[in-house]
Amino acid sequence: MRFASTRSAQLTATLAQAIVAGLAPDGGLYVPARLPAVPPGSASSLPETARHLLAAFFAGDELATHQEAIAHEALNFPAPLVPLGAGAAEVLELFHGPTAAFKDFGARYLSACLQRLEQGRAQAGRLTILVATSGDTGSAVAAAFHRRAHADVIVLYPQGMVSPRQEQQLTCWDDNVRTLAVRGTFDDCQRLVKAAFQDPSLRAVQRLSSANSINIGRLLPQTVYYAAASLQVWERTGQRASFIVPSGNLGNALACLWAREMGMPIEEIVLAHNANCTVPDFMASGQWRPRASVATLASAMDVGDPSNMERLLHLLPAIPARPARLSAYSISDAAIRARIAEDFRSYGRIWCPHTATAAEVYARLPAARRRSQQWVLVATAHPAKFSDTVEALIGREVPVPDTLAALFDRPRRVTEIEATLDALRGFLHLPCSSH
Ligand SMILES: *Cc1c(COP(=O)(O)O)cnc(C)c1O
Repeated sequence: MRFASTRSAQLTATLAQAIVAGLAPDGGLYVPARLPAVPPGSASSLPETARHLLAAFFAGDELATHQEAIAHEALNFPAPLVPLGAGAAEVLELFHGPTAAFKDFGARYLSACLQRLEQGRAQAGRLTILVATSGDTGSAVAAAFHRRAHADVIVLYPQGMVSPRQEQQLTCWDDNVRTLAVRGTFDDCQRLVKAAFQDPSLRAVQRLSSANSINIGRLLPQTVYYAAASLQVWERTGQRASFIVPSGNLGNALACLWAREMGMPIEEIVLAHNANCTVPDFMASGQWRPRASVATLASAMDVGDPSNMERLLHLLPAIPARPARLSAYSISDAAIRARIAEDFRSYGRIWCPHTATAAEVYARLPAARRRSQQWVLVATAHPAKFSDTVEALIGREVPVPDTLAALFDRPRRVTEIEATLDALRGFLHLPCSSH
């Protein structure tokens, strides 16, 4: 299969090339030239579902012979469907990986792909992966690449602007993972990463790559848990599953759309956004108006200009004009707080602030629509990652999963830098750039 840029159907790459490059040379995002039609098959494990669902993407690629091994290595933790309560929705728990958020699926899969690709490119020099993060991405990527032979990772986060527990998860690495606390905002971190990519002298001595959510190697594995969950619902009930997806950059939502377009038994897809309402406004008005992000309790979704929108706009003309099949809502911080407290009382479930947006959208559905479908709420992170918000609302401590507890025990290692390219160059032992 070939992958084309969203900006030019003629600009194509193999899967391996698209994964290594991240972004297409014209600044577009890579999308499959055509989404394959996959017969649904039967429900099974994540690696087995991946083998079936993703085979067409790997066909003819240099990674083809590794496809099974990559899935077994990366998708080695469960994504269980758990009932919420009698007669209510189910919850797809995506937080059982090493850093307790769904980004572990994509980060681990990308790392497993790059490891195999780098084995054949050793003479080209080591790869350095730069990641700007506002929280969950950086820790998932750090965990996925830690002590891997094929790449070094540099994580940049805005100093003082992540929660204490997120900071611990960003700074608890050693060996090939280094963390920079940037004296600036998340936008400064992103700007620095972009500047590094465009700096010719830096590129001459370092092979740089990125691991953000536009990389196709992070999107593909996310289609797998939607396929597996929808097939389980289909076999049990004979009905298609409808998913409510907490959304920011739209990577997770796009994976759900791709799974449906490939033929998985999925009915509605509902996007739950926080107060950053660019996408809900677009669905209501048809006007695409990206804007600056606003800070909310569901901080991993604080995105005013979602990077995957370009892929969504590319796909939309292919989706039959049945409005109910894709919709989007915006949920305020007050509603997130109230929903966390309410569902703990009603169901004994503790949501993270992101998952709470999906729970709130579910609660607001008209009763008839709620009853007529098999609803699945997508739980994107474990609430223990956001204990400072959640514990005050439910009046008790959130139990910490073992995987997270292990990270909390590790010593911290972090370097502070100014938000300038010269500071980053200095960290990399390169001379200052001439101005
Ligand atoms: C990243 C993230 C999201 C948003 O996912 P997108 O793919 O960017 O839409 C939602 N919840 C959590 C916990 C996240 O870390």
